[in-house]
Amino acid sequence: MNRILRVALPLALTLATASASGSTCYGTPARGRLHGGVPLPAQGQNYVPYSTLGVTLGRTYVHQTARDIVVEAYEATRVSMPEKRFMYGETGLATGGPFKPHRTHQSGVSVDFMVPVIDRAHKSVLLPTSMQNKFGYALEFDASGSLDDLRIDFEAMAEHLYQLAGAAKKRQVKIRTVIFQKELTELLFQTKRGNALRASMPFMKATPWIKHDEHYHVEFSLPCRPLGEHGTASN
Ligand SMILES: [Zn+2]
Repeated sequence: MNRILRVALPLALTLATASASGSTCYGTPARGRLHGGVPLPAQGQNYVPYSTLGVTLGRTYVHQTARDIVVEAYEATRVSMPEKRFMYGETGLATGGPFKPHRTHQSGVSVDFMVPVIDRAHKSVLLPTSMQNKFGYALEFDASGSLDDLRIDFEAMAEHLYQLAGAAKKRQVKIRTVIFQKELTELLFQTKRGNALRASMPFMKATPWIKHDEHYHVEFSLPCRPLGEHGTASN
């Protein structure tokens, strides 16, 4: 191999790997950055964002692989549960970094999902998010998963988590952690997908710093570069 090829080939391979996803994450969810972040779709056939304002403000960016996983899982859930409606929450900024009021979401690998809910008639409806309830984040469900006329749709949520894990696995990605209220997670385990989730989904055991009853936080285990390298990347 001549000298130019010896230098150029590894570089070309590196570029090919990088462009396969288009995004590069740096550091950790608690202290990280994102290069080439992409927004989650502003709307899908069976899902919506928590807030159009949040979308406009650029608060729904993720690593492209995370986006692909989220989109594929929604599609799979549409096939298995066509009548269900879903909503995603905040994910992060286009360039990652500090994302108040969240403590993590800094490297494009964290996604908040608002709980799917059913009304009294057991119809799948969307969470009533508004500025008054902090776009859903201030809603409080009780220990049985109820809030006024709404109840968390545990079957739909379990199916969604199951499909997220499947879509991640296809890309050799693992779900690193899921944060959801403990007593509600027990109810999730009583669903059709409950045993599968209990066996393989890494629910955080520690009590989180804020109540996770109206949303579940999912973190993907994507290979990120050390944060120090970020200075060399343009964004
Ligand atoms: Zn979160």
